Amino acid sequence: MDACSTPDLISVEQALTSLLDKVSPLNEHFQCTLNDALDHVIAEDILSPVNVPAFDNSAMDGYAFAHNEALTTFTLIGTAMAGHPFTGDVKPGECVRIMTGAAMPSNVDTVVMQEQVERLDETITLTVVQPKGNNVRHAGSDLINGATVVEKGTLLSARHIPLLASIGVDKVSVYRRPRIAYFSTGDELKPLGAPLEFGEIYDSNRYTLSALIEKTGCEGLDLGIVEDSPEAIERAFKDAAAQADIVITSGGVSVGDADYTKQVLEEIGEIGFWKLAIKPGKPFAFGTINNSYFCGLPGNPVSALVTFAELVRPLISKLGGESKPFEPLRLPAIAEGAFRKRPGRLDFQRGIYEINNGVITVRSTGHQGSNAFSSMAAANCFVVIERERDNVEVGDTVTIEPFDAILN
Ligand code: AMP
Ligand code: MG
Repeated sequence: MDACSTPDLISVEQALTSLLDKVSPLNEHFQCTLNDALDHVIAEDILSPVNVPAFDNSAMDGYAFAHNEALTTFTLIGTAMAGHPFTGDVKPGECVRIMTGAAMPSNVDTVVMQEQVERLDETITLTVVQPKGNNVRHAGSDLINGATVVEKGTLLSARHIPLLASIGVDKVSVYRRPRIAYFSTGDELKPLGAPLEFGEIYDSNRYTLSALIEKTGCEGLDLGIVEDSPEAIERAFKDAAAQADIVITSGGVSVGDADYTKQVLEEIGEIGFWKLAIKPGKPFAFGTINNSYFCGLPGNPVSALVTFAELVRPLISKLGGESKPFEPLRLPAIAEGAFRKRPGRLDFQRGIYEINNGVITVRSTGHQGSNAFSSMAAANCFVVIERERDNVEVGDTVTIEPFDAILN
């Protein structure tokens, strides 16, 4: 089989491009304190109002002195601690005991770390030659007053918050995060806690969505389970769209007898329905209902997760005002075992990668069915196998998408 035999399937890249083309950012902003700013997109450029550091200071615990090539012995005349500067005069041949972060006294330019001196009472002798300016952090060496510190459209992570704190910014203007309503469709689905009759299963997709939405910092509205009937689905769509910027459903987007999502969306909204060249996750509906965006994910649990990661996550990032839409990290890895694959769809298999002596290797987590969540849970990456590619053999290079990115 080759791609020519799957011409009705559109590529994931194409789907993502046309989806993002239809999305306009919410553009509503409000002020929040730095403590509440994590996972929000900043709505303004932040310029540093100060030099960082604000004053020359020591990078080491040691002794500060005025550099002079002829001098290796200095007389100790005082102490400078962080927060307690030494304000006296330091003459040539004199030094001050200094701690990391303490302001450099005037007239000194060099710090020797304490491990590189011999101290006898109030006299220190350098045991290692010190270049002039050693171990000094200069005012403005990290940031110059007026420099752009964080650009508008940046999703604030644990990397940015301390930077803003370091320049004294305690309030920022941020965009409102998208509100996302979600529900599951399927007569076979039961909520947790209810007994299961023969043929019924627990609804796990709402838990997938709740967890993934929480990680984006967006507000999630869980609208429960909706039965497979056009009337119930229509009511649920309208109810969800009235409350949220994005409506996400799972299930009912295939071509089975009880799959009404497409039909209802055509009646009450606008639909872009795609059969994606992706595995798992082929059926995916995207559209609008009134002023909300709609994403209909496939019902199979792994498919729902994959399509959320690859399509919904970038949508959220654009709608939320991020200037660079979210793109998952992809890295090359060496296949430690074979991956079975037929050409025709971009495959997101579940794998475990390891790094040994700088080489990334990856192996499959086993059963790759789109319903097999145990092999999803065991994985630490997707193994992204190109649409046209055939089986991957041991030793071949493949692309992986690691799951954890703690600082993003
Ligand atoms: P559908 O897309 O509705 O045809 O569903 C495809 C498969 O996914 C079926 O086996 C469903 O039972 C299953 N499924 C659908 N929704 C969920 C859900 N919320 N949780 C777990 N499995 C589901
Ligand atoms: Mg169904």
